Amino acid sequence: MLTNNPCFCGSEKIFANCCQVFIENNEIKAIYPENPEQLMRSRFSAYALGNGQYIYDTYAKISQASQSVKEINDWGKSCTWIALKIHAINNNSNTIYNEYSDQFVEFSAFYITDNTLCELRENSRFILENVPSNPVILENNAEEKQNLQWRYIDGDIIEHSELKQIKRKDLCPCNNYPTAWSIKKGKKFKQCWDT
Ligand SMILES: [Zn+2]
Ligand SMILES: [Zn+2]
Repeated sequence: MLTNNPCFCGSEKIFANCCQVFIENNEIKAIYPENPEQLMRSRFSAYALGNGQYIYDTYAKISQASQSVKEINDWGKSCTWIALKIHAINNNSNTIYNEYSDQFVEFSAFYITDNTLCELRENSRFILENVPSNPVILENNAEEKQNLQWRYIDGDIIEHSELKQIKRKDLCPCNNYPTAWSIKKGKKFKQCWDT
């Protein structure tokens, strides 16, 4: 079962105890990422799962205008998401909440597309947004509380490069990344990803 597999984000937790609680949230008992790092990790996991809706929903409002779920899915599903590596975090969740934060996560996402292993290294920016509460939740609260959630604004791409061509008989690149989530490490590429 997927829920007992290592989480896609490379946290070394199982999926059920990591990004699944955010991605398969239900609004009645909502659990949201507490800081930019958790949000960033869960967005990578959503790419690995092909869940474009979650990725769209966790864009900041100002960024959603230039996105569509279909475009996110088209690109996300054309890639095999191998591993996430986090390089640096400014991730202080005790910071006084303000709309514009200087919180960032610098990461590399490794993926394969067209038989080519690629690295996308990015410094991501985040914002804490007030998201209107679900009406069902509101009924149980006399007063509407602020419902602050972390959202992804955009990122500066530091590097976006093709690392190498992968042949189906080659050892799978997931073997080179300690944070790769594949449970078939040690296999050839075709054995690792063919279903
Ligand atoms: Zn995770
Ligand atoms: Zn592999």
